Amino acid sequence: MPLPGPLCATLFQHLPDGVFLIDPATSRILECNEAALTQLGMQRSEVLDHSVLSLQTDMVGMDQWASIAQAIRATDGYVFIGQHRHKSGAEVPVEVNTSHFFHEGQEFFLSIARNISQRLALERDLHSRDAQLRYALTEASDGLWDWNLLTNEVFFSPQLGRMLGYGPHEMRPVLDTWSTNLHPEDAQWVRKVLQDHIDGLRGRFNAEYRLRNRNGHYLWVHDRGRICERDADGHPTRMVGMVHNITDQKTTELTLQAMASHDPLTGLLNRRECDLVLGRQLELCRRLDVPLGMCFFDLDHFKNVNDEYGHAVGDKVLQRIAQTIAHDIRSTDHLFRWGGEEFLVLCVDTTEHDMLVLAEKLRTRIADLDWHDIGRLPTMTCSFGVAVFPAHADSAENLFLAADSALYQAKALGRNRVERAPTLAHVSHPYPKQRTTRPADLD
Ligand code: GH3
Ligand code: MG
Ligand code: MG
Repeated sequence: MPLPGPLCATLFQHLPDGVFLIDPATSRILECNEAALTQLGMQRSEVLDHSVLSLQTDMVGMDQWASIAQAIRATDGYVFIGQHRHKSGAEVPVEVNTSHFFHEGQEFFLSIARNISQRLALERDLHSRDAQLRYALTEASDGLWDWNLLTNEVFFSPQLGRMLGYGPHEMRPVLDTWSTNLHPEDAQWVRKVLQDHIDGLRGRFNAEYRLRNRNGHYLWVHDRGRICERDADGHPTRMVGMVHNITDQKTTELTLQAMASHDPLTGLLNRRECDLVLGRQLELCRRLDVPLGMCFFDLDHFKNVNDEYGHAVGDKVLQRIAQTIAHDIRSTDHLFRWGGEEFLVLCVDTTEHDMLVLAEKLRTRIADLDWHDIGRLPTMTCSFGVAVFPAHADSAENLFLAADSALYQAKALGRNRVERAPTLAHVSHPYPKQRTTRPADLD
């Protein structure tokens, strides 16, 4: 049913957008509604009978109108975005949608002009936020990742790619690109920490681990991430995170750690570390009810080497002995430089008999070493003291004192020999709390 004329007129007046009825031949405005007048800040007389082109800030002549009119006729709903000039001089951005129709044989254009200043402002805002985000993605020092848990596709930010030495588009955007490049020693625990977060056992994924770069070298990274989307059942579907390259800081940290626990001359673990490891290993052996063997040894007459050949040669002697012994013990044993020319070996789950065999083997290895490339040195020998928990001592401190006491015996009995500590049952008095000074040469 066609709408009655007065109702049409009312609708026309109440439309929120500016509506213009235009004569296609002349571009003159034949009629407009209230919203159009408000948009322009003008009276009816200032609008009606004027060319619709006069509303535009970019005035164009009739030639252009002819081509515009043609475009309007050719399109069903011709849309263009321009600026209307408000009477105050301000520009009003508008999106104008123009269609043509015939009424009683006469052609008309109907333009609906929508004020889009708010929309443009929003778009500008979005655009600038988008640009900021893009800037953060590409320029910030942290690499970003965005993981689709349903497809295992991962967006790696360009910065993350650069951090790992990849060119643009070289990093395949899949989870495997990350997981296959985890350091073998870290892979298992890192995956576990990640899974714990997915399973809800951890509030976030947070890990420091090694990640292989494109050249096959490992970087230390600090990786933090969180689930940010879930499906209707609460299952995680998307997770985003941030990777920071901490290689420099980690290298410094590891170097400091190594310096604190290692002896710089020989590279062996130092006395401080010996105290820590001894305590831990003894507790382990106590729990597992297995013996813990200790072999404490000291170079014989080493002072003479320094005095006769100089300190630098003495250093080389210490280094070679350290290397030799390190090579001869099992990977589960621990070797320490306990002091100046004193070394200590700890062997978990090793009997007194096996400790004596080991000490004897080390003694001959050192005595057989060839020194001709360092100087015309005499044969170097060491004296060894062996003690075993629990046969010779009931605590870490007493185990050390027992081995030290056995070493003292070895020195006293002529050096270049292995002695064991007396068994606990035969100790008539406890080991001295202070270390004993070595006996003078009895030879
Ligand atoms: P003993 O058979 O009784 O053990 O005699 P020794 O000469 O080996 O023992 P002493 O304790 O009299 O001397 C140990 C020497 O070890 C003295 C010290 O200068 C030397 N020494 C300790 N640490 C180092 C080091 O790092 N480098 C060098 N070159 N010498 C060291
Ligand atoms: Mg010595
Ligand atoms: Mg000594």
